[in-house]
Amino acid sequence: MIRLNNINKSYVMGSNSLHVLKGIDLQIEQGDFVSIMGSSGSGKSTLLNILGMLDNYDSGTYHLSGNLIQNMSEKKAAQYRNDLVGFIFQSFNLISFKNAMENVALPLYYKGVPRKKRNQIALEYLEKLGLKDWATHMPNEMSGGQKQRVAIARALISQPKIILADEPTGALDSATSYEVMDILKKVNDDGITVIIVTHEHDIAAMTNQIIRLKDGLIHEIIRNGELKQFKKEYTHGLEAAQIP
Ligand code: ATP
Ligand code: MG
Repeated sequence: MIRLNNINKSYVMGSNSLHVLKGIDLQIEQGDFVSIMGSSGSGKSTLLNILGMLDNYDSGTYHLSGNLIQNMSEKKAAQYRNDLVGFIFQSFNLISFKNAMENVALPLYYKGVPRKKRNQIALEYLEKLGLKDWATHMPNEMSGGQKQRVAIARALISQPKIILADEPTGALDSATSYEVMDILKKVNDDGITVIIVTHEHDIAAMTNQIIRLKDGLIHEIIRNGELKQFKKEYTHGLEAAQIP
């Protein structure tokens, strides 16, 4: 469903240009559960933002569900984003003056769904994520794990085909991180493609494919037998975390 061919991306600041992605070729199929790893500054977020149509690329081609994402009007890109993609961030990105239910309902507000209907649907999603009793709580009354679950509910409410998560466990302790990963695993079990960026090997070990970025290129893709070895290496001592 995702086809990247020779994707290049530079950031230009004044007279300086930083070539971040130097010819990325990548295929991700519907239903894949993928993590992107690589050192700080290697372009992980840049790649994720291009996948989510939050940022443009300079050259190459990106096909999403067979459609070329290039020179697309901002309006069409926004429509694609809203229909296909849900985002999750390290810092949750909840709106501080809206309660959990209103935060979850936000994408439906932008789609013009009336308040009563969107709040009702938001409650269903909160319930699915075990947060039924937290609907009227404000973000600052919730733990990091609870806030991330609200953010996941908000990402799911538009029934996306793809969830893109930039370090979704980066601000959480390890037990809470595994809880969030278990939720993303269940989301993936429902057929949604899940792509996460992470620095943590044990978190990456919970996905089905690990893409390592280095020097603006894909350095390696770890899957199948190599992934089994990776899981063995990095899930040592974490049996309690129900790592698949
Ligand atoms: P981290 O692990 O620290 O989050 P990353 O792999 O996600 O790093 P990116 O955020 O993709 O890295 O950034 C790649 C490079 O591009 C970095 O050197 C960064 O400083 C630079 N960069 C990112 N966004 C911009 C921007 N909007 N303008 C200019 N430079 C940018
Ligand atoms: Mg980043």
